[in-house]
Amino acid sequence: MKLAYEEALELLLNKIKKIEDTETVSILEAGGKVLAQDVTAPFDQPPFPRSPLDGYALRSADIKEADKEHPVRLKVIAEEMAGYQVDARVEPGTAIRIMTGAPIPPGADCVVLQEDTDYGEEEVEIYKALSAGQNICEQGEDFKKDTVLLRTGDILTPACIGVIASIGQSFVKVLRRPRVVILSTGDELLKPGEALRPGAIYDSNLPLMQMNLLKWGAEIMYAGNSGDDPENAAALIREYAKKSDLIVTTGGVSVGKKDIMHDVYEILGAERIFWRVSIKPGMPTLAGIYEDTPVVSLSGNPFGVVVTAELFVKPAISRLAGDKRMELTWCDAIMENEFNKITKARRFVRARYDNGKAAVTDGLSKNGTLSTVCHSNCLIDIPAGNGPLKPGDAVKVLMM
Ligand code: AMP
Ligand code: MG
Repeated sequence: MKLAYEEALELLLNKIKKIEDTETVSILEAGGKVLAQDVTAPFDQPPFPRSPLDGYALRSADIKEADKEHPVRLKVIAEEMAGYQVDARVEPGTAIRIMTGAPIPPGADCVVLQEDTDYGEEEVEIYKALSAGQNICEQGEDFKKDTVLLRTGDILTPACIGVIASIGQSFVKVLRRPRVVILSTGDELLKPGEALRPGAIYDSNLPLMQMNLLKWGAEIMYAGNSGDDPENAAALIREYAKKSDLIVTTGGVSVGKKDIMHDVYEILGAERIFWRVSIKPGMPTLAGIYEDTPVVSLSGNPFGVVVTAELFVKPAISRLAGDKRMELTWCDAIMENEFNKITKARRFVRARYDNGKAAVTDGLSKNGTLSTVCHSNCLIDIPAGNGPLKPGDAVKVLMM
């Protein structure tokens, strides 16, 4: 019996528990991870009132009448750069030359932009009146001491990392990333650097899956290629299961003589969650549990891997990580070109989505062909029994 995709996915996700382990890492390794602590401000930011521009710090009372025709002359008593605090006070009739980021000196209540002066060094002519508080960044205007800046569960974006750095913190507690094993099967598969021999092809599924896992925020555990030897594949799964949260295999799930994964699950005593889903490609997708570790076994066809990685592996990682960003994104689109095949089973077709329109990617669209996926960014989801599609038809697409 073939399951509907949604049924199969639910069966799988029901077996997957969110990772609760935490680790403390350098903020430079924390980008994209899920925060496992609240982050509270230990001081005001900025920690002192400062100048947002290059100019002159002075007393607004001294320049009340200033304009271009009636400049006010003030004595420049000091110069202050960002990073320093001069030991001087603005008294009536004086100003302090100040640069962006420098602390507002005592006695000053505003900063005149240098373009509104004659740039004087000893004395300065001010061409513009300001009121108290103008051009001053208040202490704590970004955030006040004891403000909760970030909360448990937040995703650490580059800006979040910047905020944590701005309070002088260089380590942070995050959820551990999912550890995902990838294993390919197939005697025909070559590693990079090996010479192409008759009947052989290079393994493209492993690197493709590795890149997916990187994109989806998982930690990769590389088990390599087991060949078509079920004992070997079982031994590799046994070895890696203890250290991982999810095992992804490719190849050997159909009904051919070398479709070894059925034997592998039997050798391992793994519980089968499902086998065969009413989708094309990826119909023979198999999933199970081996000693608490979920195993997703994808068909080896490269386009099958593209599709079922999106449909099964990505949601599994999202569940493990408790990270909503990885949830599947479906969009409505209007067909821009045509797709001729009639679809008995629900079918996913490589396509390019842009601004509400979807175009089937040029070139051969078969389960074994990968090159025409390179310029695709979505999969058109064609329900069972539908098609052919013509320009103008409304479709649903899954973004990749
Ligand atoms: P299988 O699912 O093992 O029957 O493989 C289906 C097709 O995908 C065959 O043509 C395999 O040679 C090909 N294939 C399987 N695994 C890989 C892989 N890791 N990289 C590239 N092609 C593969
Ligand atoms: Mg095979």
